[in-house]
Amino acid sequence: MDFRLTPEQEALKKEFEEFFEEEMKNEPPGWVWGLEGLFSDVGWPFNVYMAKRLAEKGWLVRPWPEEYGGCNAPMIEQLIFGDVLGYYCAPGVDPLGVGMIGPTILAVGTEEQKKEHLPPIARAERFWCQGWSEPDAGSDLASLTTKAVKDGDDWILNGQKCWNTGAHRADWCFALARTNPEERRSKGLTYFILDMKSPGVSIVPIESMDGSKHFNEIYFDDVRVPSRNIIGEVNGGWAITQTTMNYERSSVGIMSGACRGLNELVQYCKESRLRGKPLSQNPHVRHRLAQLAIDIEVGRTLSYHVGWLQEKGDIMAAAAAACGAKVYSTELWQRVAFTGIEIMGLYGTVAKGSKWAVLKGQFEDLAQSTPGYKLGGGTSEIMRSIVAWVGLGLPRIK
Ligand SMILES: Cc1cc2nc3c(=O)[nH]c(=O)nc-3n(C[C@H](O)[C@H](O)[C@H](O)COP(=O)(O)OP(=O)(O)OC[C@H]3O[C@@H](n4cnc5c(N)ncnc54)[C@H](O)[C@@H]3O)c2cc1C
Repeated sequence: MDFRLTPEQEALKKEFEEFFEEEMKNEPPGWVWGLEGLFSDVGWPFNVYMAKRLAEKGWLVRPWPEEYGGCNAPMIEQLIFGDVLGYYCAPGVDPLGVGMIGPTILAVGTEEQKKEHLPPIARAERFWCQGWSEPDAGSDLASLTTKAVKDGDDWILNGQKCWNTGAHRADWCFALARTNPEERRSKGLTYFILDMKSPGVSIVPIESMDGSKHFNEIYFDDVRVPSRNIIGEVNGGWAITQTTMNYERSSVGIMSGACRGLNELVQYCKESRLRGKPLSQNPHVRHRLAQLAIDIEVGRTLSYHVGWLQEKGDIMAAAAAACGAKVYSTELWQRVAFTGIEIMGLYGTVAKGSKWAVLKGQFEDLAQSTPGYKLGGGTSEIMRSIVAWVGLGLPRIK
């Protein structure tokens, strides 16, 4: 079996690497990777700067058709891009706009919706947030209670959303609301897109355990949304949510982020000593690092396998494989973080900004942020259930 990239793909990868190597020199002081790096006061201007640079290069939405700002790039090239982006822990790609709603509109939106919404995403002029979860509807999303009632050619939205990543920075939101109150489950839901500056939208920040504020609650108070901003059919929103979730779930960026973390840890072990001996000579440490390296190779293969299935158009197999890759990569990312903290000892728990922080406090930061990645976009338990049901054909538990 030959896992190598073609010479053309290698050249493209090198071009991506050179770009990120250079651009990441502009990283502002105090910047950290992750959701905080994207949405904090320090991170947001850098994120927008990088998004514009990527848009100028034509790299933000490479798989999209040219008329909407892409270049019809094959899936494998998109994976290579995500791989390099993840390795450099670079910002600039809006996970909600570029990663979720853009491909959804491309797949099932009207021509008018495509023309209105895709070019601004490709040019990094419009950023998005996701308004799905509610205080009592997370894993059980179909039970959500935000209501939309028809009024002439508009719909009036009322309700509360939560855990909305980056909503305080977003220009637009894709949201789910109940349009048929008789249907208490998925059949009564409609998929809306709305301007976050619409009257009646308010945003309340939620502080995370590490003090960062990238989550929000969104309140809809008589928010008027025109019918042309419905994606798909009225009461047909559930099928569209599946379309959204099927995109970019290869988790390749998480795998390469974990790989970067491991490489830094290896370097740290080469340079640090314990009781007079380099950490790199400690058999226990060496075995832990070697195991992570093996796990990362397995994970990378899983991610590329998802891309291959997507490219083949085997959507169901790709969906199950993507859930497996998500569980594996997010749990591995946390393992890399916790292994780093254990190897560094108490120094590993010192946060960024302190003169005692090791590797800029990255591992302390990761130890607090990686548990969330196992929840966002579907928890590990839900992902495993999908693998069992869709991937293995086991009966679905009602
Ligand atoms: C980093 C991050 C970013 C997020 N960003 C957004 C966003 O931008 N927009 C948005 O709308 N939401 C967002 N969310 C919310 C996310 O989608 C929900 O947290 C997730 O769906 C889980 O829902 P919940 O938090 O209500 O937990 P619950 O659904 O209450 O689950 C609690 C626990 O019970 C388990 N559980 C629940 N049901 C089952 C079951 N049937 N079988 C087995 N175990 C089960 C879960 O796995 C979990 O461990 C984000 C969350 C995180 C952590």
